Amino acid sequence: MPELPEVEVTRRSFADRIAGARVTAVRLGAALRWPLGCDPETLAGFSVGHAQRRGKYLWLPLERGADERCGLLIHLGMSGSLAFSDAPPDPGRHDHFDLLTTRGTLRLTDPRRFGAVVWSTSLDSGMAAKLLAPLGHEPFDPALTARAFHEALKGRRAPVKAALLAGDIVVGAGNIYACEALFAAGIDPRTPCSRIGPARAERLLACVRATLSRALELGGSTLRDFRDAHGMDGAFQAEAQVYGREGQRCVRCGGAVRRIVQGQRSTFYCPGCQRR
Ligand code: ZN
Repeated sequence: MPELPEVEVTRRSFADRIAGARVTAVRLGAALRWPLGCDPETLAGFSVGHAQRRGKYLWLPLERGADERCGLLIHLGMSGSLAFSDAPPDPGRHDHFDLLTTRGTLRLTDPRRFGAVVWSTSLDSGMAAKLLAPLGHEPFDPALTARAFHEALKGRRAPVKAALLAGDIVVGAGNIYACEALFAAGIDPRTPCSRIGPARAERLLACVRATLSRALELGGSTLRDFRDAHGMDGAFQAEAQVYGREGQRCVRCGGAVRRIVQGQRSTFYCPGCQRR
């Protein structure tokens, strides 16, 4: 599943190139998770602004004239990928959205079709506002201080791993990143949020940020073909310290890495290094 770092790397791969382009046509394939929400023909003539990211959503602002503004909110779902190219081949059976512009075509390829492209009047209204409302802070948002993070954890009894995955405190800590950040912070993934004091909360937030920074760095440096943004998972996993390493020696203490299931997701951790 594309996680926040892949989505951000994808954004960087086309944001500068598409900014300023004019939409010439929109082509829809099979139905995606949510309908587009507008007549695709009405988008022709709009200029594309600079793509933004919020959580795992991308926002492509569109404007026409001085006062017509709207945009497209894009989610890659479980298996989606976006590519921007000059002259893409004819759409295949998994290509479900093409935004044709004067600078090239932005194409969503999504075999499982849990992804979506949704029209909205703005990021703060309509469908976009509704979809983004449950999201927590961006991981690198300075407004997310150690104190604010601790306050948010304090009132919850859920295991800390579940709270990270939920994304309503901070977005971006998907399964692999949550496991790695908890290992780096020395916190047992089953620890109830309410038992995490200010010092451990501060360390955990720093580890979430460091883990995502590393993933972004790897994504930027190892991905030549952005159509295969999923390759990032592999690059990051190759240097993972606990994720996917059940039964192997912990890099820190030499004990065995364990795998448990939390909320139907695998959690990898070191019982020797991670405390409740
Ligand atoms: Zn260990």
